Amino acid sequence: MTTPTIKQCPRCHEEKPLDQFMYAEKVRSYCRDCERQLDRWRKGRPENRLRTALKDARRTAAKYDAPDTLTLDDLRYLFTLSGGRCAYTGKFTDKPSVEHIIPFSQGGTNSVDNIVIVDTTVNKVKNDEVPAEFLDRFAGFYMTRDIIELVAARRGVDFASVYEEFDEAQREHNNALYRKLTGGDAD
Ligand SMILES: [Zn+2]
Repeated sequence: MTTPTIKQCPRCHEEKPLDQFMYAEKVRSYCRDCERQLDRWRKGRPENRLRTALKDARRTAAKYDAPDTLTLDDLRYLFTLSGGRCAYTGKFTDKPSVEHIIPFSQGGTNSVDNIVIVDTTVNKVKNDEVPAEFLDRFAGFYMTRDIIELVAARRGVDFASVYEEFDEAQREHNNALYRKLTGGDAD
């Protein structure tokens, strides 16, 4: 019996020398090129992007000395709940990032009751806009209501109190938006 020196890769179906089935110092079932491709693909999966998003959020929270209780499970849960969709646009995203409803600069915390998961590109558009302004402009009328209700429900508080946390400086804008959303008065 002779030992085969060539093997067919079950993925790309190419016949290659055995040493081409070594990758990262292990013998693999697929050829090196295929394993490398799969590796890149695995790293690009939403799960891994959630890890990155968490890391980014933690780093920023530390910079602001903000309370930080956010876990990867929180992100997994929220992302699963939304069916992998961006909370602002409702579109599927493979580039999720953590968006803080109340920004760190305004006393927001890095915790499940202060975040939604949005597409990375959406988060970049926001910059330093105050939350109400941004929600009103970007997420639109009904989406804004949904997001505020979602955050209020997560905290077990009412709609109005989520708004109260927004900074004084944006009170005027908040009140206008609040009236629009509720048809009621805010003072
Ligand atoms: Zn292959």
